[in-house]
Amino acid sequence: NKQVILKSYVNGSPKESDMELKASTIELKIPEGCNDAVLVKNLYLSCDPYMLGRMKKLDGHYVDSLTLGAPIIGYGVSRVMESSHPDYEKDDLLWGFVGWEEYTLITNLTTCFKNPTQRRMAGMTAYAGFFELCTPKKGETVFISAASGAVGQLVGQFAKLMGCYVVGSAGSKDKVDLLKNKFGFDNAFNYKEESDYNVALKRYFPDGIDIYFENVGGKMLEAVLNNMRIHGRIAVCGMISQYSLAQPDGVHNLFNLISKRIKMEGFLVMEYYHLYPKFIEMVLPHIKKGDITYVEDFAEGLENAASALLGLFSGRNVGKQVVVVARE
Ligand code: NDP
Repeated sequence: NKQVILKSYVNGSPKESDMELKASTIELKIPEGCNDAVLVKNLYLSCDPYMLGRMKKLDGHYVDSLTLGAPIIGYGVSRVMESSHPDYEKDDLLWGFVGWEEYTLITNLTTCFKNPTQRRMAGMTAYAGFFELCTPKKGETVFISAASGAVGQLVGQFAKLMGCYVVGSAGSKDKVDLLKNKFGFDNAFNYKEESDYNVALKRYFPDGIDIYFENVGGKMLEAVLNNMRIHGRIAVCGMISQYSLAQPDGVHNLFNLISKRIKMEGFLVMEYYHLYPKFIEMVLPHIKKGDITYVEDFAEGLENAASALLGLFSGRNVGKQVVVVARE
């Protein structure tokens, strides 16, 4: 059973050498008398920025640290090989937490779902953050950072469907082109080419920003606060620019929250899974019609998994980063 294990806790910027590809010789078997376990073959693994938090030795974080020497854990789509659980049969597909390995024995199925065609994480994050926290209205101005990523690309398309004016920032010319030409953003800019984010935001939002979907934090958040409109809303989804810093950047202009009566709220997608049926009802017809689309980035094989995960923090991924362990 090939596995990607956590070799050492991440300290500062993550390195590929914090992980290691190993072959485990432990035989995976559903224990005698256990009637709620499944043995799965892992097909697709999701690379998500929050996983970096679990690779650190942190107390008081909202997710537990992973165990040293054990496989990295993340969301995946897997095929059931053996089951002692009444809801799962051989060959069923399953979505949930699995190890970064070829085969996983799952004894706790409470975080698993049977229908993996339902893309819960990125889509739900975009949906919950945008519609529940930002309360968008037609004609409002929306800014999205890390806009070409898994979450950002969907937020932008939701905002366009609502009749908003939408601008995104991303880290390369190709990503900027993608935002404008594939996802229908009104405009986009490469933040790496901007010496002053305030100037960039003024260029695209001369009358200010009503809604900011926050994915990066730091200096971008500071500039956005200066450019928000009165009664603006900020959904704090992530702050990826901060995840590898020993000392997070200070944001020095929070007084804007008061003077502009801005609502700024953080959220975790797992607290919004109850909205899943609503999300599907809204999004599926648009996907079928082709007016919501998405871009995925596939890394082939567990041997490329560590590098794919790290690529999120340097912007190497274009769209939703997935590791293909096996195709069937
Ligand atoms: P993405 O697919 O957007 O990948 C991450 C992207 O972040 C990279 O491609 C890169 O794009 C950008 N990035 C990396 N480092 C920096 C930096 N220092 N400054 C600016 N941008 C950077 O990932 P996701 O869509 O999965 O996640 C987006 C955000 O949403 C993350 O902050 C994540 O933590 C958060 N999230 C939160 C959830 C919640 O429940 N609250 C659930 C899921 C995700 P570029 O080339 O444009 O720089």
